[in-house]
Amino acid sequence: MILALLAMAVQAPPSPRRVLIQDVTVVSPERQTPLRHGYVVLEGDRIAAVGQGTPPAGRWDSVVAGGGRVLIPGLIDGHTHLAVPAGLPVPLPDDLQTLAAGYAEQLPRSYLYSGFTTVVDLAVFDRAFLDRLEAAPVHPDIYDCGGALPLANGYPMAMVPKELGWDLFPNFLSDPRQKDAIPARFRPEDHTPQAAVARVAADSGICVKTFEEPGFGPAKNLPTPTLGMIRDVVRESHARGLPVLIHANSLAAWRFATEAGADVIAHGMWNWDEFEQTGEELPGPIRALLDTVAARRIGFMPTLRVIDGLAAMYDPGFLDDPRLGRVLPQALIAWYRAPAGRAYAAEMRDQLGGADDERIRQIMRGVSDHGALAARYLASHGGRLVFGSDTPSGPTFGNPPGLNGFLELQRLAAAGIPLDRLLASATIEAARAFHLERRYGTIEAGKVANLLLLRANPLETVAAYDAIDLVISRGQVLDRAALRAS
Ligand SMILES: [Zn+2]
Repeated sequence: MILALLAMAVQAPPSPRRVLIQDVTVVSPERQTPLRHGYVVLEGDRIAAVGQGTPPAGRWDSVVAGGGRVLIPGLIDGHTHLAVPAGLPVPLPDDLQTLAAGYAEQLPRSYLYSGFTTVVDLAVFDRAFLDRLEAAPVHPDIYDCGGALPLANGYPMAMVPKELGWDLFPNFLSDPRQKDAIPARFRPEDHTPQAAVARVAADSGICVKTFEEPGFGPAKNLPTPTLGMIRDVVRESHARGLPVLIHANSLAAWRFATEAGADVIAHGMWNWDEFEQTGEELPGPIRALLDTVAARRIGFMPTLRVIDGLAAMYDPGFLDDPRLGRVLPQALIAWYRAPAGRAYAAEMRDQLGGADDERIRQIMRGVSDHGALAARYLASHGGRLVFGSDTPSGPTFGNPPGLNGFLELQRLAAAGIPLDRLLASATIEAARAFHLERRYGTIEAGKVANLLLLRANPLETVAAYDAIDLVISRGQVLDRAALRAS
């Protein structure tokens, strides 16, 4: 009998770790007002209870004394490219493999350090890389859109050497208009909207990413998909419950994405096309389109750091910012300073006719400000702001992982986005955009225990997102300082 009981005790599953977080001010998008003197009970990787005043009696594996500090949901970055090492060239030369490996090792800690406990990769081209991140001792929760759906020979396939394009974007959409420009080894029937979306679903993608982009810089006038093709992508995706994100950053591309039925527009409206020279005011036809975007409940990611991250290459002080060293290995920052690390900056300067630093920053600021104006209008007229930093967005060193997300939050606040909209965008709105709202985005019983303990209130100052003391990832309480790059 005793032996049988002992055997049962040995076989019983271990009870989940119980953590009590007490005396915190809970600030979360589901609450009209902060919950003062609150407590949160964690069981294993879930939130078990939220309350106010004296916490329930119990045996705790660990107790976090909040001391009146602010507890918010862990942040979600809905637009990342995890396997792309920021600022390193694509394809990666052999002699830079060690630098890239150092970047990859720090990467999951850098997102957590910056408060991003969930990240979504919008274009997987190296599944093994994501698997390695998930095998790291600590890492954010990682979701992805599987292989992205560019049009054959379109953006972003056309931004990498031709043969590499077919390897990096095997889920491309075929195009009857360019039969002769697609290698015969690819059968058109394997690259229809139906086949491409089916591959995303089979690869356990939670979203579908496609592009409306005629190109820029040296790669202009690229082929773009027809409205019919993208409507088919949307129909197939919705039939499988997958939201569709469309890369679009001009007035024309936003119109296209809106007509195609996008769920989320994955960039800001930087380029105002025929209204480019109209200056500071938002022209009437743009306002009308933004009203339609809001009315149709289409989410949008301003991603202003795409442009600001390019401008950063021409800011002499950028690489001296001590915050870079908290998310990147020192060896990589040193390489950014070397001529090889500045090759992309030199290339872009040539494309801009050899303009000096100040002129380039001015040009970039104009583009970024257009995006900011459109974002502020949309956010204050019922639009669904969804947070996504697009890290890294190109071969620039101006988008350091994790830190780039904080810089994006800061930029959006400076652009006049209300702080409550900003918090919602990086929590519940990002969760909803990817159909993850049952798991993430608020501090409620049953949700994943991803939380941040802050020394300031993000409804009062955007600086709160950089005043993190503790990062709680799936119930694991992590000291922020321990997540820094060493
Ligand atoms: Zn992107």
